[in-house]
Amino acid sequence: MSLTIDRDRLSSEIDTLASFSDAEAPAVTRIVFTPTDLKARAWMKARCEEAGLTLRQDAVGNMFARWIGSDPAAPVVGTGSHIDAIPNAGKYDGVVGVLGGLEAIRALRQAGFRPRHSIELLIFTSEEPTRFGIGCIGSRLLSGTLSADAARKLADKDGDALDEVRRRAGFGGELEQVKLPIGYYKAFIELHIEQGPRLERQQIPLGIVTKIAAPASLRISIEGSGGHAGGVLMPDRHDALCAAAELILAIENAARNSGAIDTVATVGICDVFPGAVNSIPSRVRLSVDIRDTDLQRRDLVMRTLEAACNTVSTGRGVSIHTELLNADAPADCAPAIIEALSQSCRHHELTFLPMVSRAYHDSLFMARIVPVAMLFIPCLNGYSHRPDEYAHPDDIARGTLVLAETLAALSA
Ligand SMILES: [Zn+2]
Repeated sequence: MSLTIDRDRLSSEIDTLASFSDAEAPAVTRIVFTPTDLKARAWMKARCEEAGLTLRQDAVGNMFARWIGSDPAAPVVGTGSHIDAIPNAGKYDGVVGVLGGLEAIRALRQAGFRPRHSIELLIFTSEEPTRFGIGCIGSRLLSGTLSADAARKLADKDGDALDEVRRRAGFGGELEQVKLPIGYYKAFIELHIEQGPRLERQQIPLGIVTKIAAPASLRISIEGSGGHAGGVLMPDRHDALCAAAELILAIENAARNSGAIDTVATVGICDVFPGAVNSIPSRVRLSVDIRDTDLQRRDLVMRTLEAACNTVSTGRGVSIHTELLNADAPADCAPAIIEALSQSCRHHELTFLPMVSRAYHDSLFMARIVPVAMLFIPCLNGYSHRPDEYAHPDDIARGTLVLAETLAALSA
């Protein structure tokens, strides 16, 4: 079978999808269930229909576009990713896996391939945590990692419940029905930009992921006491922001001193109340993200953080409350899919790097119900989640080719 990937069509589709954005180009902002997201979904749907795929959407808006195999009852071979984008992001994160997956299917059809197992393109709802504070809502529900009850408790910062928002966006039915039965999928492969610099630095065209790092996120609320910036003297202060500053550095130190390069910790949000120049901060909320490929090491960082909260709370006379939002286990990719990807790389004489995914992806959750693997392509300077995120069309086409061939091998 000789496969032709239409590199230029794929590039132009990536550009078109990027035009559905709430930020000015080249930045892309596409938050789940906003009118812009719904327009992008409608455009995606039309592309899938054009490709002859059969569409289905579930109650949380996960979209499944299926090429029905000659044995429709056999477990499905899946591929896909997400199209939501954080504020001021780029146009490749997630999108490469969705449009690359679609192009892979089109290439296989055009080559006259006929799968025995159905092949399905899956577009996950809300991989990014922007709106509801938790990432991978679609794949968490599909895999049963997030219960329908817990999902119903999610709300955005305006207090709008996920359950309401998704219904208003046109996704009816019960969230209980989202979970997929074990055995629905035979295999799942996600094509993605690396979001790190290794492939580019080593000039290797492809990365085959062997392990996906485990993220944990926490919210920390610090309650001190406010007052007039002139009136309250230093010995009497219980400044919540100063307490937060100590905690932020303690978190950084805990990750730096873990003994492994794979440990990373970030405080990405710091909300200060009341936020006036002449008022002592009385309340601060921090959002913390800690990741590792090793669960025990990550948990040690979390215990160190807990100890720092106690020390700072006592030392400064502030109360500190931590809330664990999620703490997921890392996933191992499936050896059989890794082997199929490797074989395709060897067939095309493409070198590849076995690597760890330090960012998490929907595949992390899909791994609970189906053997998964991920295929990475280089991105410029490793940049991601920023407007200058860039992947070369040749790299995207190469990843798509290897994906297509692997889908063929697994679905035959
Ligand atoms: Zn992504």
